[in-house]
Amino acid sequence: MSRTFRELGELDRLLGKLGGQARVSTLARVEAAEGSWPIHGIVLGTTDRSAPTLAIVGGVHGLERIGTRVVLAYLHTLSELLDWDSVLQKTLERSRLVFVPLVNPGGLFLRRRANPNGVDLMRNAPVHPESHGTPLLGGQRISSRIPWYMGRPEHAMEVEARALCDFMEAELFGAQVAVACDVHSGFGFVDRLWFPYARTRRPFHHLPEMLALTRLLDATLPNHVYAIEPQARSYTIAGDLWDHLYDGFRSAAPERVFLPLTLEMGSWTWLKKNPRQALNALGGFNPLVPHRLRRTLRRHLLLFDFLHRATASPDSWARPDTDLRDRLGAAAFERFYG
Ligand SMILES: [Zn+2]
Repeated sequence: MSRTFRELGELDRLLGKLGGQARVSTLARVEAAEGSWPIHGIVLGTTDRSAPTLAIVGGVHGLERIGTRVVLAYLHTLSELLDWDSVLQKTLERSRLVFVPLVNPGGLFLRRRANPNGVDLMRNAPVHPESHGTPLLGGQRISSRIPWYMGRPEHAMEVEARALCDFMEAELFGAQVAVACDVHSGFGFVDRLWFPYARTRRPFHHLPEMLALTRLLDATLPNHVYAIEPQARSYTIAGDLWDHLYDGFRSAAPERVFLPLTLEMGSWTWLKKNPRQALNALGGFNPLVPHRLRRTLRRHLLLFDFLHRATASPDSWARPDTDLRDRLGAAAFERFYG
């Protein structure tokens, strides 16, 4: 039984429009009592897996539909640009864009945060011994009836989490420079760009490169809207998929750069401006008023474009010499942890 919904229909339309310009695969199928849905992976650009690669991911949490829609808005723009923009075509000859726009189709269909098994996918990775998850919110094993359920420790990862990790390992781990941006909504009044770790306040290895990229963003788009900070400053998570992938990348390629970012769109502003939204299950996580939705759909296109350009031109930020790297590290500690 297949049960479609708006975002899945829009993704199918875009895949048709992209045609042979994209390499599309079905990473897995989610089977549940309520229906059956594919998880699609999309790759644009060179087939050389060592080329700089940007991954854009959405729909990990089923209530945060706006995340998938923001990713689809970027895919839509790319599908049009590929028809006429020789600058983009040239850039994609030496870089790659990788997408999983809808990681948790069952959750979107069922209008719930978790997947159909009740598991919070962003708490479902093997737990690192250093993890200090914030109580409940940071992952719990009490019951799938309470949010943030991690699944049973003796069980393998859920099919959606496994599909995302396998695809990222295949498509990102060979890249000289990799950046990921996983789009969520629901926390705070401002749009945050979070970097690792989620499990601990301890700084991650690529903190100097993270500051270099932040400075490049600040200089290039001085009016950007993002608060850039370690995820663990807001709360900590056990079983975070991006921590898990980051650790995997580091052991596979200790000399290369990977920055897994989370874009956490601040949904409390939408609630404040339209308090009746609180009565709707999706209202806490999505702009429901049409003009606010359109504003959100265009708001992050510049960020994705910037991330693609920065990833494709890594000499400007991702390859500091030892001296500069030390200085960046000290300045980053001051800025993000001071
Ligand atoms: Zn989320």
